[in-house]
Amino acid sequence: MKQFTFDARLPRVLFGDGALAQLPGEVARLGAQRVLVLCTPQQTEHAEQVRTLLGACAVATFDRAVMHVPVDTVAEAYAAARRHEVDLTVAIGGGSTIGLAKGLALLHDLPYIAVPTTYAGSEMTMIYGLTEHGLKRTGSDPKVAARAVVYDPPLSRRLPIGLTVTSGINAIAHAIEGMYSPDGNPVISLMAEEGVRAMAAAIDGLVAAPMDADLRSQALYGAWLCGTVLGNSGMGLHHKLCHTLGGSFDLPHAEVHTVVLPHAVAYNAPAIPDVITRLHRALGGSAGTTAPRLLFDLARRGGALMSLRDLGMRASDLDRATDIALQQRYPNPRPLERIAIRELLQHAFEGIAPT
Ligand code: NAD
Repeated sequence: MKQFTFDARLPRVLFGDGALAQLPGEVARLGAQRVLVLCTPQQTEHAEQVRTLLGACAVATFDRAVMHVPVDTVAEAYAAARRHEVDLTVAIGGGSTIGLAKGLALLHDLPYIAVPTTYAGSEMTMIYGLTEHGLKRTGSDPKVAARAVVYDPPLSRRLPIGLTVTSGINAIAHAIEGMYSPDGNPVISLMAEEGVRAMAAAIDGLVAAPMDADLRSQALYGAWLCGTVLGNSGMGLHHKLCHTLGGSFDLPHAEVHTVVLPHAVAYNAPAIPDVITRLHRALGGSAGTTAPRLLFDLARRGGALMSLRDLGMRASDLDRATDIALQQRYPNPRPLERIAIRELLQHAFEGIAPT
């Protein structure tokens, strides 16, 4: 076994149907007295649920969280926090809302509790993103770690099935890259394999029964595991390609992950036979199937858009995307080869099955 150091970074987690009821206790445990609730304009009902639970302690709601965490939005939310003399935020929503809480924690030292309602996994990481003048910068800082994470599966029951599928595959991508990250270790690989298994089975089940309580619970459990893997390992070609495509060509986050993942896994497959075996097992594969193809079929069964073209990318941008992806150097099991990466992007653009 290779040498490793495991300096686990794990926020406190409360999990289970009805776990949201424990939020007042968590706020008290942190000694906070004035809470600002964060959400998107689409999730004001969830924010209201939090305010009802917290009573007088919840002094205001900021309901303008948006994708990519613009610094102007952080400034507006901070102005509201100051006006109401807030000492804690509660972010209820997906990666965009939790990203706003991270922005406030990073720039203004405001601690937060996360209540995730998608499967993106941001709540388990110290990774932040901030967008200014159209450029998104990302980094990692212990200041942005959640003080507690409340996973209450019924809150994700109304997550539209399209986002359920793509967000779930976004989570699977974290787990896969953790399995071959140089910062990984055998415990991370265990969590990753179990995360993929739980999430893949949940996605298939939820497509048929989106309101099923047990499946929602299983999906959120998978998201927790996959997010934990992302928070404790590293990212390779897949995430870098997705950040390039999302950041430079303004393509939607979870949907891009869903299109690119089977092709990125196919690219790396020759360099990671052990990971491919684990992944194949976690995806319930049988003889004659391959892990990249199983991922492709999982997304297709879920009704996801399967090509970058369908997501709005132009064929004329593929060469530039290849150039940007090759500009940065980062650890990846297979060396970055221009011709093969250009071909990978072509396949993803056309939405053909991975080879
Ligand atoms: P999102 O947060 O943008 O949410 C998408 C939409 O779904 C929003 O309108 C939201 O209000 C709505 N929604 C969320 N939960 C819902 C529910 N249960 N019911 C109904 N509607 C619901 O999407 P996302 O995929 O969760 O997050 C994407 C963002 O998160 C990206 O910007 C990405 O970069 C970031 N991210 C960051 C990390 C990290 O570690 N920093 C990890 C993963 C993703």
